[in-house]
Formats: sequence, C-alpha cells, structure tokens
Amino acid sequence: MKTNYKWLRFLLAGLGAAALAGCASAEKSEVGQISKRPFGHTADGTAVDLYTLRNKNGAEAGISTYGGLVIFLKVPDRDGKMGDVVLGYDNLDGYLKDSPYFGALIGRYGNRIAKGKFTLDGKEYTLAVNNGPNALHGGLKGFDKVIWTPKILVSPSGPSLELRYVSKDGEEGYPGNLSVTAVYSLLDDNALKLEYTATTDKDTVVNLTQHSYFNLAGKGDILKHEVMIPADRFTPVDSTLIPTGELKPVEGTPFDFRKPTAIGARINDNDEQLKFGGGYDHNWVVNKTMGELTLMARVYEPTTGRVLEVFSTEPGLQFYTGNFLDGKITGKGGWVYQFRNAFCMEPQHYPNSPNQPNFPSVVLKPGEVYKNTIIYKFSARQ
Ligand code: BGC
Repeated sequence: MKTNYKWLRFLLAGLGAAALAGCASAEKSEVGQISKRPFGHTADGTAVDLYTLRNKNGAEAGISTYGGLVIFLKVPDRDGKMGDVVLGYDNLDGYLKDSPYFGALIGRYGNRIAKGKFTLDGKEYTLAVNNGPNALHGGLKGFDKVIWTPKILVSPSGPSLELRYVSKDGEEGYPGNLSVTAVYSLLDDNALKLEYTATTDKDTVVNLTQHSYFNLAGKGDILKHEVMIPADRFTPVDSTLIPTGELKPVEGTPFDFRKPTAIGARINDNDEQLKFGGGYDHNWVVNKTMGELTLMARVYEPTTGRVLEVFSTEPGLQFYTGNFLDGKITGKGGWVYQFRNAFCMEPQHYPNSPNQPNFPSVVLKPGEVYKNTIIYKFSARQ
C-alpha cells in the first residue's frame, strides 16, 4: 500500500507540473528569438502584448504593441554586463497614465507645428494644440498611443517585428489615409534597427521618429555622457521651440558637437538658445546628402564604456536632454526620473517644416513611398 501512495503523489506532482506548463504556454509563446507575453489592457479593454527580441549575444529589446514602445533595451557594458539603457515603466499602466513619449513611435508629425496650423494644396489644416501654443508629436492621440498590429518576420540578421497602423483620413486633423509599417530588428551587432514605410491616398505631411530616452549608465544624470554630432549647423528656435527658419553655424556656440564633448560641459552656459530649451532641445542639420543612411550622433558613457551610434536616412536630429524630467515620474525599478536623467536622439525632418518653405519637404503624395531608417547601435570600449 505504501508504494501505491508514492505513485499517487508522483502522479499528482506530474499533473501539477503539466498544468503549470500549460498556463505558461498560454501566457508566453516563443518563435525563434522572439517571445511574446501579455502586457495588460488599454482603457477600452484592448489587449496589449509585449514582444521580446533577443539576438545571439543575449541583447534584448522589449517592444509593446501599444505605441510600438521600446519598453526595455538590454545591451552589454565594457565587461559584458547587460544593462537596460532606456527609461520607462515596469508596466503598461504607467505608459497609459503619464508618459513623456518614453520609447515611442512618433507620428504622424514628430516635433512641433507652429500654432497647430499648416496649409497644403491651398487648404488650411488645424491640429490640436498640445504644447504651449503649438502642436507636438502628432496630437492628442498620436502614433505613440495607438495599437499597432504585430507580425513576426523571419530574417537572417536577427529577430524582427513588423508593426502596422492605418491612420485614418482626418485623424488628429491630418489629411489622407496613411498606412504605416514600422519594422524593428535587433541585429546581431547589437543594433536596434527601425525601418518605416508609409503610403497615403491624399497629399499629407509625414515626419516619423523614435522617442527612446537613453541613459547608457542606467542611472543618474547624463551630463558626463560625451556626444558627437556631425553637423555644421542647427536650427535656432523662438521661446516656444519653433525654428526661426535660420540654419545657424554651430561654430563658436554650445551647439558645436563636431568633436566629442560632455553634455554637461556647456549646457548651463549663458546662451539664449539653451535658455529657450532649458538645455538642449534642438534640431541639428546633419552634414549629409538627403536620404543617405549616415551617422547622426555618437555617444560615449565613460563609467560603463557603452557607446551608442545613431544612424539614419533623415536630414535632422532632435537632441533633447530630458529638461522636462523633474522628479515627478517614478519609473522602472523605482528610479525617480530627475532633471536630465536621460537624452533622446530623434532623427527626423526639421520641426515645423510644413510652415517653412526653405526646409526639406515633408509632403507625401499618393503613389509615393515614404521611407525612413533609424538605427541605434550599441558597443562598448575600454
Ligand atoms: C521635444 C521636447 C519634449 C519631448 C517630450 C522632444 O522631442 O523636443 O521638447 O519635451 O520631446 O515631449
């Protein structure tokens, strides 16, 4: 009889384990180097998933179907230790309640449009004014707050996740149905690549970008990070951060990052442009041929040795030093995000381009294909 009990216990234990495994596979599924798990629900009850892309070195990127947000990005330091280099929240609720665009896909028009108005083909369009007197980052419900349709792609260079969204004609005030595809790939050289394509059925304006908040040390402020931006000019702004239209030489200003310079070296200089931005919050006119995939910035963090290189096909780079972070947000792992605890590198067209005829055009017409590639490549040095 004794042996029978033993077998019964064994059987029950086996059944328990099988039930647990069953639950786990319903909760989490895996395809190659991509796994998926539930990440919560939006206010209207829509389920949100979190996809984890893992490359052959063990680097990881977590992407949510809500906003196409980069929730985490784990890359090695100079000792091979993995660390998360982006700010954000541990759960979806934080993003739903209050997020300054942490990790987000930004559209239909990234950055500012003066007074929320522009004219296209002789017709004036009015957008929501959501940033002082201006429109910012696509409106009240921009691409950072919509649900994207995911599809896992098979690619030899690393795991890829395709996200699709159709922005309706008139959505947030913009003309034309815009079909957008954003493909994130975590390449085996530790680069997170984002490839956007978009088409429209009416003339419209498009300026898509990515809004990850980086801190390559994974803690503290970013003032000791060294930045290099290959740009001879930048677009100075008015007090509401709208470009004046001038392409101003960086020579002799705190905006000259042609040689690697610590972010903190000049950020508090007595300079009107720095005052308007509360620090750096400007667009650099990167030296390049329009449309070429080139280096837009290189950032080095001395304590960890981490290096971020930003590549893009876009003509401009918004470099923002987290000047609006003020300790009101407690993010991942209980980190209170203080003033300048992160920086953003947003490759894009220049702000307010729809109202600046001398800036490169952001108009997309039916039959054309909008393309934009952004790469955040990580390495480490001694
Ligand atoms: C803008 C900042 C803004 C931040 C978050 C950046 O792209 O340039 O001014 O505060 O996004 O909204």
